[in-house]
Amino acid sequence: MTHIAVLGSTNMDLVTYVAKAPQRGETVTGREFRTIPGGKGANQAIAAARAGATVSMIGAVGNDAYGVRLRDTLEHSGVDTDFLRTVEGPSGTAHIVVDDEGGNAIVVIPGANGTVDHLSPGDEGLIATADALLLQLEIPLAAVVAGAEAARRHGVRTVLTPAPAQPLPPELLRATDLLVPNEYEAVTLTGRPDPREAAAALLEQVPEVVVTLGATGCLYLARGTEALVVPAPRVTAVDSTGAGDTFVGALTVALAEEKPVREALSWAAAAAAISVQREGASASMPYRSEIGAQFSA
Ligand code: AMP
Repeated sequence: MTHIAVLGSTNMDLVTYVAKAPQRGETVTGREFRTIPGGKGANQAIAAARAGATVSMIGAVGNDAYGVRLRDTLEHSGVDTDFLRTVEGPSGTAHIVVDDEGGNAIVVIPGANGTVDHLSPGDEGLIATADALLLQLEIPLAAVVAGAEAARRHGVRTVLTPAPAQPLPPELLRATDLLVPNEYEAVTLTGRPDPREAAAALLEQVPEVVVTLGATGCLYLARGTEALVVPAPRVTAVDSTGAGDTFVGALTVALAEEKPVREALSWAAAAAAISVQREGASASMPYRSEIGAQFSA
């Protein structure tokens, strides 16, 4: 089995389901409220574990009830949490509004994730044993850079989701092998409104880029090769929370298994298409057998 390490956030998602999200100053009555374990780091860890890899999560939860549930949820999906620390204070929370068209708006409060501003003893040794390191930007940038540089020292492939969108320091770009922004992040990072131009600009800084394009699919560029456009399967979306994390987790597993790039992208798109047809973030992520069934459909 391939081994994927994830350095990133764990959050409790506080999810409100509403017909139409309120505008500023407006009050609306929602339909339902749920607490669902999430965080981009934990979501990608669960996506990768369900997609068939051995996964280790590096990060922190608070010493509150959410922290216990966040750890349990990871372990339940088979993720190793030996490197997930429990720290004083609240766990991270994400406040999510999901509308009837499956769109979402999110506010994240870092909590324990804010304490992950460096690598702890043992983290580098773990990263060194992995086939790939998954990174996002929901923990302090200093730790993301330290993790990416540690992976680079040991020849471990780094896959960065630049979310929430923010300028990326040169040392992080230098240690990134594959950058996976969504359309909004690609535009924010480059100032280019066209995803293809944005991807081309990013390719000057990292060797491989995948821009995810929601229901349209994704665009892959690597230095010295033709661009690949991979369409998403046509499905009826009910909740796109976690689609990007499902895509990245599955893609990283497929690439670590040395599937050809086009096949890896289609396989990841199949995984993400399943996730958008179900509510929640990690709860919506498919298992390997389900991905296989959608992939061949
Ligand atoms: P996004 O973060 O919205 O760009 O979505 C990430 C990936 O999830 C996309 O590249 C698609 O593969 C998949 N995806 C998102 N929305 C949909 C949808 N409505 N139907 C099918 N696949 C989707």
